[in-house]
Amino acid sequence: MANQRAKLVVGNWKLHGRLADNRVLLQAVSSGADDLPDDVRVGVCVPCPYLAQAQTLLESGRVAWGVQDISAYTHGAYTGEVAAEMAAEFGASFAIVGHSERRAYHCESADLVAIKAERALEAGLTPIVCVGETLEEREAGKTEQIVGGQLDAVLARLSVESAARIVVAYEPVWAIGTGKSATAQQAQDVHAFLRARLAAKGDDVADVSLLYGGSVKPENAEELFSQPDIDGGLIGGASLKDKDFLAICGAAVAATAAR
Ligand code: PEP
Repeated sequence: MANQRAKLVVGNWKLHGRLADNRVLLQAVSSGADDLPDDVRVGVCVPCPYLAQAQTLLESGRVAWGVQDISAYTHGAYTGEVAAEMAAEFGASFAIVGHSERRAYHCESADLVAIKAERALEAGLTPIVCVGETLEEREAGKTEQIVGGQLDAVLARLSVESAARIVVAYEPVWAIGTGKSATAQQAQDVHAFLRARLAAKGDDVADVSLLYGGSVKPENAEELFSQPDIDGGLIGGASLKDKDFLAICGAAVAATAAR
């Protein structure tokens, strides 16, 4: 039976944006999103300095905002860190944790990502927990072992009630920013595996939103979002272009209508 979970489309701006450009983009996305039905939720994760701008420009609309990482600490002598509560003070709803770029370039371990997910939840943010395998790992037949291990580290740290409040994004590393998306079937297979892993934690956890990320574009979004275990997308490059991002949100609407 087709699932009834609402679709969620979240942009990850990464290290992009300037005040003037952001204003144009956020205003266009906000006004385009006003026309979307309630069962398609939209968010953008901006660089921290732009949280206040996102709050000002988005608070009267239906686009939520968030950050791309948070500290594993709540406060203290941790120069350069941003606490989850600080983001929450600017009305943030989401915190991406464990993006593959942070795992790779900042040596973030599965345990650190789990702590960050916990900190986000404590501050009232929804952690978007990213998991994904490299091409080498996929070719070695280790996809389930890798993504399962990354997810298990987070689930092991959380109660069933807390685990039910996370979002998980499957982002194959080889598909991020490469223009080479996973096929809908490849993505669905991994999502079904992750769904089973979530369900094993508890009945309420089975319905956690599972996003796909990795070269999602207007042309491939509807097919991906129509898969039974794909509840939307985490969108990098295409979230920087209002028309592309809104077209991807439109694909979520079409996928919802077709189920
Ligand atoms: C991402 O960075 O989370 C991502 C999915 O990037 P892209 O859409 O550009 O592949």
